Amino acid sequence: MPCGTPSGCICRSRFPTPGAHRLERFKPGFFPMHPAYLFDIDGTILKVRHKANRKLIRSILKRFGISHLNVEELDFAGKTDRDIFSNLLQKPDEDLFHQVKQIYLHEMERNLSADDIHVYSGVHDSLDYLRGKAAWTGILTGNFARAARIKLAAIGLQDRFRFGAYGDDHHDRNELPPDAHEELVRFSGEPFQPSDLVIIGDTPRDIACARSFGSVAVAVSTGTYSYEELGDCGPDALLRSLDEFPAWNEQHLASRT
Ligand SMILES: [Mg+2]
Repeated sequence: MPCGTPSGCICRSRFPTPGAHRLERFKPGFFPMHPAYLFDIDGTILKVRHKANRKLIRSILKRFGISHLNVEELDFAGKTDRDIFSNLLQKPDEDLFHQVKQIYLHEMERNLSADDIHVYSGVHDSLDYLRGKAAWTGILTGNFARAARIKLAAIGLQDRFRFGAYGDDHHDRNELPPDAHEELVRFSGEPFQPSDLVIIGDTPRDIACARSFGSVAVAVSTGTYSYEELGDCGPDALLRSLDEFPAWNEQHLASRT
């Protein structure tokens, strides 16, 4: 039903329920109809075959004379690519960092295929479920933005996320939510608050990241951390897989009204 507001109004496409007018939703005390959802990638949406990625990193480091690192054993979970590569390259200058980053992304784009990627159970269903609710879905990942796009494109999910924050510039994951929030508010035109963000990830760093911004922390134990380890970090929700996400979200929505 057209709302009759000036051009640029998005209520018709996203809020088809009569009366759910965008301007009404700016009144003090109104929640956005749904929270916005930010998904981590590795360990949450998908898993890239471990050996493929570590072998690529090892070969790139070797080109730059760094071969003594035990790349296969290092823990990258929840870290940003900026932080990971800065440490691997032992505090590089910006030129060296940029060169290695470009080679890494180029090689990933050339070599990564769907065969190298496992998509976790419940991912497609959860995204379809959120699309059915016209909810805003985005990415919050430590990956370089282009690496995120390459991985998601390989499994056909690149168009399912409309905003996000990435690990190009920040060493600390906790610096990502403000970037994602700013982009969300700009794109949506809605007054989302930090507490309206649901941040979904597979590591204690994802939980801490959500906490640092006053957002809702949903932990999913599909990555390298166990259900019990994540539970010890006190997330708002703890799921064994994203199969459990729609049912949890229904409860979460009911608790907001
Ligand atoms: Mg992860």
